[in-house]
Amino acid sequence: MNTAIQKPVIGIVSPCYNEQEVLPETAAQLNTLLTGLIEQNTVSAESFIVFVDDGSRDKTWDITETLVQQYPLIKGLKLAGNVGHQNALLAGLLTFNNEADALISIDADLQDDINAIPEMIDKFVKGADVVYGVRRERTTDTAFKRNTALMFYNFAKKMKVNLVHNHADFRLCSKRVIAALSGYTEVNLFLRGIIPSIGYSRETVYYDRLERFAGDSKYPLKKMMSFAWNGITSFSNYPLKLVSIIGFVIFVACLGMSAYALLSLFAGHTVPGWVSTVLPMYFLGGIQLFCFGIIGEYIGKIYAEVKQRPRYIIDRKAE
Ligand code: UDP
Ligand code: MG
Repeated sequence: MNTAIQKPVIGIVSPCYNEQEVLPETAAQLNTLLTGLIEQNTVSAESFIVFVDDGSRDKTWDITETLVQQYPLIKGLKLAGNVGHQNALLAGLLTFNNEADALISIDADLQDDINAIPEMIDKFVKGADVVYGVRRERTTDTAFKRNTALMFYNFAKKMKVNLVHNHADFRLCSKRVIAALSGYTEVNLFLRGIIPSIGYSRETVYYDRLERFAGDSKYPLKKMMSFAWNGITSFSNYPLKLVSIIGFVIFVACLGMSAYALLSLFAGHTVPGWVSTVLPMYFLGGIQLFCFGIIGEYIGKIYAEVKQRPRYIIDRKAE
């Protein structure tokens, strides 16, 4: 359990890429929510909201600057260029971690229900280090997005990736979780895989995912697929292992086929040239795949090493 903090300083971090249509409304809603929590003495008056402008090409930053003037609780962080949702979120979390006891990440388009935030804070105050926002149902998604998402979660599970089902990036993380996160130096960032692998005490809050308030999704199919693939390959060597297993099975099968070809030769029911043609094919094919597999195993190890992830994270000591 984290040392339970009464009236914690809470920061809400929201990455924004070309979100001029939704930003004023998001700001107003988050401001009302946070002001309410401050007045109820649930959170400290130093709590804040940050909009991280991920290199937007529209008026997102201009609007952010106006919002900062308008609302004392709002801050802005402008990135030099577009680095993508995950990296923009990371920038916000790492930049503001020393100013808060816990940070909540939320999409700027109001799809994550902001009314789940008080429950997240409640669970944090009671000792949880990570509180995952999990969607109850995906009724607002298209059937296509729902099915592809389900396929992704199932596939990821088979590939031994540790994910929280139906959790996107709506979550609360305590200060020490984000401090641990800074030790993950990888470039292909997949926060949904990293945060569960950090450990610590966790809780879940359920919410209904709403429609995007305005504007269009910044995740077209192509980006979504590469994100899903990145999620699996950043967390699992299983695809490499699979090559190794397939290689071995085929190699054994090829040995069998080679033996059959030789036996047929000695038994004399082969046409001339058949054995000398198929034998090298089976044998070399089998050996090659098997060797690929072995190389894959080593690449897997190199891959794990170059990521230089922390080998352990300490929760607490008893003295
Ligand atoms: N986003 C970002 N950088 C990008 C793409 C998206 O910061 O390059 C932000 C976007 O502004 C939003 C969040 O990431 O706050 C989720 O994006 P979106 O709502 O478009 O994705 P969807 O909900 O359709 O999966
Ligand atoms: Mg969205």
